[in-house]
Amino acid sequence: MPSMPKNPSAINSLFISSFSRTQNSVCADIQGVQLTASPALAAALLKIRPNLAHHACKSAGTGNFKDRLVGALLPHVVEHVAIDLLVELTDATQTFAGATTWLDRETNTMCVRVGCTSDEPSLYFEATKKALEQAVHLLNRLLSEVA
Ligand SMILES: [Zn+2]
Repeated sequence: MPSMPKNPSAINSLFISSFSRTQNSVCADIQGVQLTASPALAAALLKIRPNLAHHACKSAGTGNFKDRLVGALLPHVVEHVAIDLLVELTDATQTFAGATTWLDRETNTMCVRVGCTSDEPSLYFEATKKALEQAVHLLNRLLSEVA
């Protein structure tokens, strides 16, 4: 599945401009025009991925992601969706964790990093990359369907 849309500047789309790896994580650089989750998007997303409501989220202290979803930066939402997908895609004996940080505010680019606790994290790199791509794909579909 291509992660780069034909028109990268199209409103409401996110795309992955590059992937990189560290010893125990995969990082996707994600660019987007609309950068925060609307109440409609949050509701549509929770309908499809209800487990997101229970995700722990350490941004701005401890708490549940559900309470942060409305108004959350979309790359941060990608991080949580990717982790949710990974738990399904893998044997679930691993704990996955992520962090989303700014790379460039001028181009709305953020780095979404997802890693796991495995002794052999490289076993999960392909699944992590796939989950990040699927998460972007899912959010782009929802963005085209809800305001
Ligand atoms: Zn979070």
